[in-house]
Amino acid sequence: MEDTMADGQPVADCLFCKIVAGDIPAAVVRQTEDTVAFKDINPQADIHDLVVPRAHYANAAELAANAPELSAALLVEAGEVAKAEGIADDGYRVVFNTGAHAGQTVFHVHAHVLGGDFLSTFGN
Ligand code: 5GP
Repeated sequence: MEDTMADGQPVADCLFCKIVAGDIPAAVVRQTEDTVAFKDINPQADIHDLVVPRAHYANAAELAANAPELSAALLVEAGEVAKAEGIADDGYRVVFNTGAHAGQTVFHVHAHVLGGDFLSTFGN
């Protein structure tokens, strides 16, 4: 997948830009200056939150290429969300689906934070 130049500006028809702006409601778990974390509307685990940067980047590769400090902030915040949800000690999964073949459906980068019980592992 090719990285594109991106400046983080909001995109009018982006679902997660609308959630960040408060134009579409979401069950917000935590907010920082740079990120918003909210419950996934269709959870795939007991705990399933999404952590997004307020700035719009299409996917993890585009974020890393254009805003590496924000990439780090997003990862740090995924850990804080796990702590806030009480799953940090038992273990949790952070997933970035990147591109259509990986199943990415919303093209505003988001970390899935999954946990709350044993998760299936690759090959199991
Ligand atoms: P992806 O498939 O792009 O990795 O993940 C997108 C996630 O966004 C999915 O897990 C999906 O359930 C979630 N999602 C889609 N629409 C909404 C919405 O309107 N609100 C919330 N909270 N989550 C959503």
